[in-house]
Order: sequence, then C-alpha cells, then structure tokens
Amino acid sequence: MTKPWFKNLRQIEPYVPGEQSKNENIIKLNANENPYPPSPQVMQALREIRPENLSLYPNSNAQKLVDAIAQYHGVKSSQVFVGNGSDDVIALSFMAFFNSDKPILFPDITYSFYPVWCRLFNIPYETPKVDDNFKIIPSDYYKPNGGVIFPNPNAPTGIGEGKEFIKDILNHNPDSIVIVDEAYVDFGCYSSIELLKEYDNLLVVQTFSKSRSMAGMRIGAAIGNEELIGVLNAVKNSYNSYTLDSVAIECGSAAVNDDEYFKSTLLKISSTRDRVSDIFKKMGFTVYPSQSNFIFVTKNDISAKALFEYLKSKNIFIRYFNLPRIDNHLRITIGTDEQMDTLIKETENYLNGLK
Ligand code: PMP
Repeated sequence: MTKPWFKNLRQIEPYVPGEQSKNENIIKLNANENPYPPSPQVMQALREIRPENLSLYPNSNAQKLVDAIAQYHGVKSSQVFVGNGSDDVIALSFMAFFNSDKPILFPDITYSFYPVWCRLFNIPYETPKVDDNFKIIPSDYYKPNGGVIFPNPNAPTGIGEGKEFIKDILNHNPDSIVIVDEAYVDFGCYSSIELLKEYDNLLVVQTFSKSRSMAGMRIGAAIGNEELIGVLNAVKNSYNSYTLDSVAIECGSAAVNDDEYFKSTLLKISSTRDRVSDIFKKMGFTVYPSQSNFIFVTKNDISAKALFEYLKSKNIFIRYFNLPRIDNHLRITIGTDEQMDTLIKETENYLNGLK
C-alpha cells in the first residue's frame, strides 16, 4: 500500500554530472576539470591554514575573497557575490531574479542544469533552438520573457560569442535580467564584465572550477550592479548564510592573486586544444570552434556512443549526452598533452578497427 505521506514527497529528475570513477588510473576528460594543479600560492595558503580556527564560522560574505575578485576585475566589492561553486551562484540567481510569470529563455542546447533549476523552483522556461551549426540565434531572444541565461562560450559546444552579440541581446532585453554564465570564458572568449558599466540588468557568473583548477574547492562568483548583488545576498542569507568555508576563502584569494600562473596554465590548455582539434579534423571529425577547455566533435559515419564506450573500456572517460540533436556528438575535456596523445592513439585504433 502506498504510504500516506508519499504524495508530499518532491518528485524531481536531477542534473547528472560527469561520472566520477573509483579507479584512479583513468584519464578523466568528462567533467571539464583542469589537468594542472592550482597555483603554488593556493598550496601555500593551504599550508598556512590553522586547523584549530575551523571551530569558528567563516566570514559570512567571504569579504577577503570578494575584495580580491573586485580588485581583479576593477569593480567595487559591493558588485561581487561569491558562492559554493557557480552552480550555487546560478541556483541562487534563479531564485533571486526569475520571478516573472513569463518564461525565461535559454538555448535548447546548453548547460543541462538550467531546466533542472527551473523545475525545482517552478520557473516557466522556453528553449529557442540553436541553428544547425549550434550557434545561438539572437533574434530568438527579442520577445517578452522573464529573464535570459546562456553560457558564453556555450556548453557543451564550446562556441563563444563576442561583444556585439551580447550587446544585441542586452539591447533587446532592457526589462529582464540577463545572466551570462562565463564558466569557460578564460580559455579565450570575450568577457562581458566591461559591459556592466553600460547595463544594470546584466549579471556575469564565473567559476574557479575550470581556469583556476579548483573544482574540488567549490568557488563561484557573480559580478553585477550593487542592487542585483544586494538581492543575491538577501536571498543567500535567507537560505544558508555560510556558503563558503574559511579554507575556500583563503585559497580562493590566493588563486586570484597569482595572475602569472593563471595565464600560463590557460596558454598551455588553449595550445593543446588547438593541436588536438586539428588532429581530430584530420581523422575526419567535425570539430566545432572551441573557446573553452573542451572540444565538441562528431563523425557522421560512426556512432559517438560506441566510441565513448570503447574509450571507457580503455580507461579514457569523455562525455556523451543522450539528448536530442546531440546524441551523436562527444564532448572531450582538454587534458595534458600526454593524456590527449593517449586519447588520439586509442581513437585511431578504434577507427582502424572499423575498416
Ligand atoms: N556553468 C556551466 C556552463 C558549466 O558547464 C558548469 C560546470 N558543470 C557550471 C556552470 C558549474 O560549475 P561549478 O559549480 O563547478 O562552478
């Protein structure tokens, strides 16, 4: 017999992140993590943590980290909000800004967490189709809406857009909050931060998980006008005051202050990405132009799922999405040159085996 309280249980289909394996010997190219370690200054900050101080609550607005990020971007500290990864920042932004009866808009092919938050928070949404080359069509975002969100560069395609594109969306949406999710922006894409001076309805979200090699520490940030940041803080403080722990505050600040290491890591990843993209093209794959730390590929005479499974059997994990329009595509995170050479060798072996 069904229990009487069953009807009160929330039924929800959650977001599914890239698989984590217990096997430490895998080549993990399925979650867009950075193959290089965090800055040596982060290691130093960790060594300087005094464990006895963990008995105290952290500063609830993570002021030290907020100040470091503000200084880095040349904005006021009151324009910066931080959270427990950018997933936390985006989820809080959905709660804070998407309260209209009109649907919010995001592309049909994009970060698959957005529809999950919409369902969790009962936010109506529409998903205009990207074109056949997976590019977002700006005019689809000209209609009345309850808000707009898209990643730049987009995920899982890696395709980035420039200043004119972002301005066009903003110019057509003066009545909505427009969130640009810049999770992968540092790998060579245009950042909308400079547009904050012109548009008070823009919120830019970034993360330390990718370009700063700190996915395990969970740090994300939103940068916007003071009013939006004030509302985000009010929502956060109505839900969980201490989203960032004191270790993350110290290590995050140390990471922001080491620009030299940051830039050298980015350079390594983008040059590996460009090299690997060329090799995949030579192997007959379509490779979408990527401004991120992953590539999105397809080859119409092979099954993406079968290649994904073959690589998994060789302990190489990449990402396959069983979703409409992209179910014969693969997303491959850029690892070290050595990891990518193993991936290339195994992909060649697979293709040769089909001949
Ligand atoms: N936005 C996009 C587009 C992403 O791909 C991810 C990573 N899954 C995130 C946000 C969230 O990353 P994190 O919570 O680690 O900051």
